[in-house]
Amino acid sequence: MMAAAESAKRGLVTLLIEKNEYMGRKLRITGKGRCNVTNACDVRTFMANVPVNSKFLYSAINRFPPSAAMEYFERLGVPLKVERGERVFPESDRAADISAALERNMRECGVRLLRAGVLGIETENGAVSAVKTDRGAVSCRAAIVCTGGLSYPATGSTGDGFDFARSLGHTVTPPRASLVPLTSPGTLCRDLMGLSLRNVAVTVFEDNKKIYSDFGELLFTHFGLSGPTILSASAHMRRFGERSYRVEIDLKPALDEQKLDKRLLSDFEKHKNNDFINSLGELLPRKLIPVAVRLSGIDGRTKCNSITREQRHELLTLLKHFPVEIDGTRPVSEAIVTSGGVNVREIDPRTMRSKLVPGLYFAGEVIDSDAYTGGFNLQIAWSTGYLAGNSVI
Ligand SMILES: Cc1cc2nc3c(=O)[nH]c(=O)nc-3n(C[C@H](O)[C@H](O)[C@H](O)COP(=O)(O)OP(=O)(O)OC[C@H]3O[C@@H](n4cnc5c(N)ncnc54)[C@H](O)[C@@H]3O)c2cc1C
Repeated sequence: MMAAAESAKRGLVTLLIEKNEYMGRKLRITGKGRCNVTNACDVRTFMANVPVNSKFLYSAINRFPPSAAMEYFERLGVPLKVERGERVFPESDRAADISAALERNMRECGVRLLRAGVLGIETENGAVSAVKTDRGAVSCRAAIVCTGGLSYPATGSTGDGFDFARSLGHTVTPPRASLVPLTSPGTLCRDLMGLSLRNVAVTVFEDNKKIYSDFGELLFTHFGLSGPTILSASAHMRRFGERSYRVEIDLKPALDEQKLDKRLLSDFEKHKNNDFINSLGELLPRKLIPVAVRLSGIDGRTKCNSITREQRHELLTLLKHFPVEIDGTRPVSEAIVTSGGVNVREIDPRTMRSKLVPGLYFAGEVIDSDAYTGGFNLQIAWSTGYLAGNSVI
């Protein structure tokens, strides 16, 4: 929609081909229906949040930075607000407002709409000549492929653009999941299924080296871990198969080791004649207690007054470094973002033009670049779409 509007503004006859019944289907579910539309940061900070091919995006982000995107949406009549971590949302908290504004703008700029599924892109003498759809072919001088990735395919992002690119000679970095729940071997997570922890600190280790930490919410599921901290963490875990990964959860981040030790001492004193398993009710959620007792190595029936200093120390270490082995991610269809895509070396970063096929352009998630959470992925779509729309033909 961004690319089409910008192209039409320049007086080009522009047709947007969308296979869904309505526009912006994925956009409407972004940010849990609130749409984290961008991040109110400078270009440098933006780049630091793009782990894959950030250099390629430099021109696009400089030409249409987050500040420009914010102005753009406000000018389209969507007031915005900035929240924690510079995340930008519509004041209305309605993602549909962003989608509707883009659609309205696009129509006002003169973009025509064709509801059809694109089947491929045709060339004549090596240059784009037509777009083949299930409702016939449309001849054209240029085509911008904005088909997204492979995530949440029910929204329409079914990876078709990767096939179009491949069939025109482009290489596509194999798509994989990013911002995705993590899988864990064994039964630990299954035993804790449904348990949601708020205000915990999460640290990721790659081959025992700390690579990421975050604070917030986490959820145990039948397959492993999910929730906001985990989705963010997953974007940093890119070498499954080559490296081993472990997540450590600090269940009591507000208490340093000394304070937690004092707290354990006082809880054990209070429950001195009770079984250990019955002493943790004020410290941990109910579901976690039997698992924590098992992992602590202390027999649950041990009386609290006979727990040794060493045992208490073991328990403390467990509470501050609760370990969860991670062996992979859920599939790309369940990921917020698809990593991989059309090889950036084959796209001109100043125009989004294919270096291989005259008249072919790319924008958005179909390109091999993706970012962390915080509004960065949509900003990549806005910036590359803006650039493609302003460069086409
Ligand atoms: C649940 C969820 C929440 C998210 N929340 C955020 C957020 O808050 N902030 C953020 O920055 N990012 C978020 N993202 C990521 C963001 O939505 C994507 O990066 C972004 O939508 C990519 O835009 P795009 O235009 O490249 O592709 P898409 O939004 O995937 O759009 C591609 C469009 O192309 C159409 N299409 C595909 N193939 C064909 C074909 N053959 N013929 C015709 N039409 C076709 C599709 O129907 C679709 O409408 C979220 C993603 C998900 C799944």
